[in-house]
Amino acid sequence: LSPRRQARSAILDPTSNTAIIGISSGKGGVGKSTVTVNLAVALRSLGKRVGVLDADIYGFSVPKLLGIKGRPVVLDGALVPQEAYGLQVISMGSLVEEDTAVVWRGPMLMKALEQFLKDVLWAELDYLLIDMPPGTGDIPISMYQLIPQSYLLVVTTPQPVASVVARRVGRMAEKTNQTILGVIENMAYFICPHCGTKEDIFGSGGGQQIAEMLGVPLLARLPLDTRLRRSGDEGAPLAASDDDPIGRAFVEAARALE
Ligand code: ADP
Repeated sequence: LSPRRQARSAILDPTSNTAIIGISSGKGGVGKSTVTVNLAVALRSLGKRVGVLDADIYGFSVPKLLGIKGRPVVLDGALVPQEAYGLQVISMGSLVEEDTAVVWRGPMLMKALEQFLKDVLWAELDYLLIDMPPGTGDIPISMYQLIPQSYLLVVTTPQPVASVVARRVGRMAEKTNQTILGVIENMAYFICPHCGTKEDIFGSGGGQQIAEMLGVPLLARLPLDTRLRRSGDEGAPLAASDDDPIGRAFVEAARALE
């Protein structure tokens, strides 16, 4: 097997060299999964070995965003991550039929997440990005109990209400003793492709406000842009193309995580 795979639970070992980063948002639809896959591709372009764990079990979208089809191979009762853009990827979406509703209750869900971390033959990784379920409910908290050494990254839109979310995330991080690495503001502005006018569709300043509140850097301000939506639909992340300004913004954010 290539690349060399880690012993089953090595990734959870607090002394492991893998930086585990949970990508969180207060609510769904703010672009958390889009940011996760593009950041992963950007880190890869910097030469890092990167895994993506799609833990947004009810709203999985990572396989589609990366153009991954089929199912992961099972080897000795453990899953071998699928590969795309040089990333190692595991998602509930690759294990169930596309139109299946995942209706597991909490304990079963936790078991699934635990298995994703323990019973997956991750290759040796520098980073494992976890696309978290939105919100600050039981699942994220239990997840952090499972991986207390993990870091957090917050994705938000600029809407002022988002500061409420930031406080919640901050409080949660305090409880779980986690380090927040930064904030990424998505859908920060829209530039009209016809007249070039810039519009703050979702308001402005939310990302900065949250970053200040949490005392962490604002790592990127990404525009609302059809290309980002289309690239997601096509399974071809913008961060994979060198000459794209949005792709470059992801690479800048990835650099700040080094
Ligand atoms: P979440 O993971 O927070 O639920 P997604 O990453 O799945 O959000 O994004 C929701 C939808 O919005 C997707 O169709 C995605 O392509 C689109 N989207 C995300 N960010 C942007 C953006 N900056 N510009 C345009 N569309 C975006």
